[in-house]
Amino acid sequence: MPSSMALLILRRNLHGRTSSLLQARVFSRSPEAAAARQRASEPKPVEKILVANRGEIACRIMRTVRRLGIRTVAVYSDADAGSLHVRSADEAVRIGPAPARLSYLSGASIIDAALRAGAQAIHPGYGFLSESAEFAQLCEESGLTFIGPPASAIRDMGDKSASKKIMGSAGVPLVPGYHGDEQDVDFMRSEAEKIGYPILIKPTHGGGGKGMRIVQSANEFVESFLGAQREAAASFGVDKILLEKYITRPRHIEVQIFGDKYGKVLHLNERDCSVQRRHQKIIEEAPAPNVTSDFRTHLGQAAVSAAKAVKYHNAGTVEFIVDTASGQFYFMEMNTRLQVEHPVTEMIVGQDLVEWQIRVANGEPLPIDQSEVPLLGHAFEARIYAENVPKGFLPATGVLHHYRPVPGTSSAVRVDTGVEEGDTVSMHYDPMIAKLVVWGESRSAALVKLKDSLSKFQVAGLPTNINFLGKLANHWAFEDGNVETHFIEHFKDDLFDDSRHEKEAYEEAIYGAALVAACMCSKENSYFREGGNGLNSIWHANPPFRVNHCAERVFEFQWDNDNDGTGSKLLVLSLIYQADGQYDIEVEGEGNSLGFHVKVTPLVNRDFRVEVDGVSVQVGLATYEKDLDKHIHIWHGSKHHHFRQKLGQPLFDDDDSQHKPSFEMASHPQGTVVAPMAGLVVKVLAKDGMRVEEGQPILVLEAMKMEHVVKAPSAGCVHGLAVTAGQQVPDSSVLFSIKEYYPEQKE
Ligand code: ADP
Ligand code: ADP
Ligand code: MG
Repeated sequence: MPSSMALLILRRNLHGRTSSLLQARVFSRSPEAAAARQRASEPKPVEKILVANRGEIACRIMRTVRRLGIRTVAVYSDADAGSLHVRSADEAVRIGPAPARLSYLSGASIIDAALRAGAQAIHPGYGFLSESAEFAQLCEESGLTFIGPPASAIRDMGDKSASKKIMGSAGVPLVPGYHGDEQDVDFMRSEAEKIGYPILIKPTHGGGGKGMRIVQSANEFVESFLGAQREAAASFGVDKILLEKYITRPRHIEVQIFGDKYGKVLHLNERDCSVQRRHQKIIEEAPAPNVTSDFRTHLGQAAVSAAKAVKYHNAGTVEFIVDTASGQFYFMEMNTRLQVEHPVTEMIVGQDLVEWQIRVANGEPLPIDQSEVPLLGHAFEARIYAENVPKGFLPATGVLHHYRPVPGTSSAVRVDTGVEEGDTVSMHYDPMIAKLVVWGESRSAALVKLKDSLSKFQVAGLPTNINFLGKLANHWAFEDGNVETHFIEHFKDDLFDDSRHEKEAYEEAIYGAALVAACMCSKENSYFREGGNGLNSIWHANPPFRVNHCAERVFEFQWDNDNDGTGSKLLVLSLIYQADGQYDIEVEGEGNSLGFHVKVTPLVNRDFRVEVDGVSVQVGLATYEKDLDKHIHIWHGSKHHHFRQKLGQPLFDDDDSQHKPSFEMASHPQGTVVAPMAGLVVKVLAKDGMRVEEGQPILVLEAMKMEHVVKAPSAGCVHGLAVTAGQQVPDSSVLFSIKEYYPEQKE
C-alpha cells in the first residue's frame, strides 16, 4: 500500500496537467500493444467527434475530447440552442424540435449532422441513443466510428431476458425467475407461483427503473402485470416482461468493465449504487463498502465472463444484485454504455474513461493488465436533481435563478454539470442538474468532503434534492456503509420527519433569518451609499440620515422547510441599527424570543462575512421573485435555509410560465386536482361527468422515466376533465375536479 503522501502525488499526476502525457505513455507502452496496432492496420486518427447528447454528459465528454486535441461537434434541439453544451463545442448543429424523439433520439438527423460537420466518430453519451443497436449499426454503415460497444453486444444485452440466457450459459449466477417468450398472463401467474412471492415484474427492454412492479401476493398479480406491460409498450416499444424473485434486502453492486477490440477485458473494480429512490440511483460510491477482497475478485471475474460472453469491447457495466441475507450475488443486467456514475471509478483508478473509450474505438489495445488496475482511496457521487422531495421525488422544472456549485473544485472535488445560472430545467429532458463527485484517501475522509461540498452547493429558483442528499450523507447508517436498496424507505422517519428535531430546526431557521435580515440591510446600505440605481440623491447618499431613518425595521419571513413539506412558519424579526454599523436583532418565535448582535462585512457578489456574538461565518445569499413572493436563500456554515417575503403586488415570472402562481393553487375550490408535476398525459382512464370512487385512477402522467397515476381524492363526479392523451401539462395546472354526487345527476 503506498503511503498517503505518495497516493496524493500519484493522484495529482493522474488528474493534473501531466495526466494526458502519462496516459499516452501508458497506452503505447507494451510490446503486444504495438504489435496489435500493426495488426489493426493503423487506423486513421480521429480529428473531429460529434457528441450525440446534451447537458452534463455532453459537456463531460467534450472536456476529454478537447484535451486530446480533437475538435468537438455538439447537436441541439430547439430547447437547447443557447445551452452550455452547445457553447462548449467547437461546432454545433441543430437536429430538431424540443421533444427528444424528434431530436436527440432521431438517429438519422444525428448521422446527417455528423456527415455535414465532417466528424469521423460519434460518442452517444448515456441515455438517448447510447444503447440503440440500430444506431450503432447506422453509424458504422455511414462510415462513422461509434464510440461504444459492437451493435451485436448492445442487442444481446438490451433484452434482459436474452441476456439472462447468455449469462446463464456463461456460468454467471442469475436471480431465480422466468425469462422466457411465453407472455400469457395466466401462464405468467403460474410461473410467479413457482418462483414464490414477493416477485418483481420487469420490462425486458426497460431501463431507469421504469415499469418495474413489486408483487407481494397472487391477487395483485394481474393488475401489476398489465400495468407493467402498458408502461413498457409506451416507453420502450416492446411490452415483453420477465419475472424475478424479489430480493427483500439487496445491495446493488456493479462492476465497470472495459474491453478492447483484441479480446482483452478488464474490470476496474466495483461501485455500490444501493442508495436509490424509485429504483434510481442517487448516491454512488467506489469501491463498495464492507466487502472482502475475495468477494471483489469473484464479482470482477463474473463481470469479465459476462462481457466476454458477448464479445464486448469499450466501456460497459455489469450490474449485480447482492442478497445481504445470504451474501450471494446475481447478475441483473449489463449496461452497454458509459454510466452516469463513471466518475467514481475514474477517481479510484486515476484514469479518464472517456479517453479510454475513444482510444479503444480507434483500435488501440487496452494499456494495462488486470494486475495493474489500481484501487486508490474512495469516491462518492451525489446526483443533484431538480425534484420535489416531499412530493415523492417528483421531477421539477424551473429557472436556476442562482447557481453556484461548490467553489474551488480540485482533483478531489469534481462537479460535472450541464447548466449555468439563468438556465431553465425544462420538462423535456432529465431533471439532473449536476453530479458532485468527491475523493478521499479513505471512505470516511471522502464522506467528510461529500458533506462539506453538499452544504456549499448553491441552487435557488427550483426545488432540488440537495438538502435531502445532505441528510443521507449525514445518516449514521450511511456513515457505517450499511447501504441497501431500501435505505431511504427504511430510514424514512430520520430522513423526512423533522418533528423529532423540530425545536432545533426552528432555532436554526431563526438564526438563519437573523443573518438574512442583517445581510439585506447591509447590502441595501452599501447599495445606496454607492449611488443605488443612478438616483444619486442626498436622501440615499447620506448614510447618517438613512441610518436614522431606518433605525428600526421589521421583517416578516415565511420559513419553508423544504424537507418535510409541512407548510411554512412565520418569523417576525425586528432589527435595530446600532451607531457602530452593527445590528441588534430580536426574533419573536413560537413561545420564545431570541436576540442576536450581528456585524456584517459584505464581500464580493452575494457573499458576506457575518459575526454573531463573537463567532464569524461565511454567508451566501440568493434572492429572486416568483409568483407573489420574494424568495431568499441563505447558506451559512453547513446550513441552508429558504425564506419567502410577501411582495406588495402580484408579480409574475414570465421566464417561468410552467409555474402557476401559488395564490391560484390556494384559491382552488375543494375537490380540485392539479398536476403534481409537469409531464405528458399518457392515458385518461375516466370520462368527464363520470361517477368515481375515492382513489380511483383518473389519468396517468409521465415525466422523465416515471409514471404517476392521478387519482380521485374523494368519491363523486369528475368535472372539467378536458386533457387528452399525448398532451403536455404544466406543473400545478388544473386537471379536473371531483364534485359531490347527487343521484339526480346523470352519469
Ligand atoms: P444508470 O443505471 O446509470 O442510472 P439509467 O438506466 O437510469 O442509468 O439511465 C441512464 C441515464 O440516461 C439517466 O440517468 C439519465 O440521466 C439519462 N437519460 C435517459 N433518458 C434520457 C432522456 N430522455 N433525456 C436525458 N437524459 C436521459
Ligand atoms: P433498470 O434497467 O431499470 O436499471 P435493473 O434490472 O437494473 O433495471 O433494476 C433496477 C433496480 O431495481 C436495481 O438497482 C435494484 O434496486 C432493483 N432490483 C432489480 N432486480 C431486483 C430483484 N430481483 N429484487 C430486488 N430488487 C431488484
Ligand atoms: Mg439497471
